Amino acid sequence: MHLRQIIAWLLETDETRLAALWRQADSARKEGVGEAVHLRGLVELSNHCVRLCAYCGLRVENRNLPRYRMSREEVLACARQAVELGYGTVVLQAGEDPGVTAAWMADLVRHVKRETPLAVTLSLGERDEEELALWRQSGADRYLLRFETSNRRLYEAIHPPPPASGHPGQASDRIALLGTLRRLGYEVGSGVMIGIPGQTYDDLARDIALFRALDLDMIGVGPYLEHPDTPLGKGPDFGFPILDLRSQPKIQNPKSKIQRSQPKIQNPKSKIQNPSCQVPAGELMTYKVIALARLVCPRANIPATTALATLNLAQGRELGLLRGANVIMPNLTPPQYRVHYEIYPNKACLRETARQCHQCTEARIESLGRSVGRGRGDAPRYAHALDH
Ligand code: SAM
Ligand code: SF4
Repeated sequence: MHLRQIIAWLLETDETRLAALWRQADSARKEGVGEAVHLRGLVELSNHCVRLCAYCGLRVENRNLPRYRMSREEVLACARQAVELGYGTVVLQAGEDPGVTAAWMADLVRHVKRETPLAVTLSLGERDEEELALWRQSGADRYLLRFETSNRRLYEAIHPPPPASGHPGQASDRIALLGTLRRLGYEVGSGVMIGIPGQTYDDLARDIALFRALDLDMIGVGPYLEHPDTPLGKGPDFGFPILDLRSQPKIQNPKSKIQRSQPKIQNPKSKIQNPSCQVPAGELMTYKVIALARLVCPRANIPATTALATLNLAQGRELGLLRGANVIMPNLTPPQYRVHYEIYPNKACLRETARQCHQCTEARIESLGRSVGRGRGDAPRYAHALDH
């Protein structure tokens, strides 16, 4: 698919034509990865973070957030629960936390692999190559690292280097790190936030084209949701003068009713959009990006994310699954910690237990006539490599 076509879909407002996009994405999903919906149990093992990401509530300068780090035994209890609930994968996620040391994490991965048949996905931010290599040798199978935006100028504005790291002033390069992860033999996942202030339709189309160029095994996309204790959440002028906030719209407050309702299809006459306009951080745009990600990477594993469910608790995940997604990540983090993993406020499914999350997820999948995936649900390329 050419960039021009991707942009045209992102700008599309006609409901009939969009219905055709959903159908195309759904059949590409069926053909590429089948009917099973794979469940990945998510464990948010630490909310400490040294980074200053301008969008995220876990950023080091947010002093309003109580911090926690789970013990090895607590994480292992979650992994055992993942097995009990029939999941094939556990996703171990955290802020970029130096307290999660290379050795501690390697020991944890080895324990999970020794005690369970689970595939292990890590999502621990930008770590040194030696650490990533050690965790891979310890048995970790997959790594998730969103590149967030392919617009370098926007990326540098929203993702400055951490103040107290060993590399002050050194710009981060998540796209280069994805190459390192691939070389180390990980199944590689990445993705973007949709509607970050400053992100244009042209930028978002290039992000989707980059999913294809990187040949991603997993693609996670979700709407940007504003957090009041972050520079971006404090308003459009978030103190990065280099950023040209083109056609900055009013960013919806996740607490408002408007954002939780069904998406409104814009009347094409009311507002003429063009590729250099700001992308809205909404539900409809998220479905479009899921569908287009499926069309450019038909065999990738693509979750219907919690951020999408946060916009539409009643139906967000189901609509994601009907428009290209094939994965859900039920939360296994113990509720007393989960409330403090506050990337953005009012996250969906904050107070449910792991078992409640599981029952609700299974019921939603069955209501669509789809089946719950059994086994690890590896990306086809990786499954093929394991077979040979
Ligand atoms: N620290 C790791 C990292 O940055 O890759 C993993 C955890 S981080 C919280 C996981 C993802 O949350 C980020 O890649 C980002 O896309 C998403 N995220 C952070 N703040 C967000 C916000 N305000 N709205 C939506 N998604 C957000
Ligand atoms: Fe830290 Fe990840 Fe949040 Fe950035 S997005 S502040 S690295 S947890």
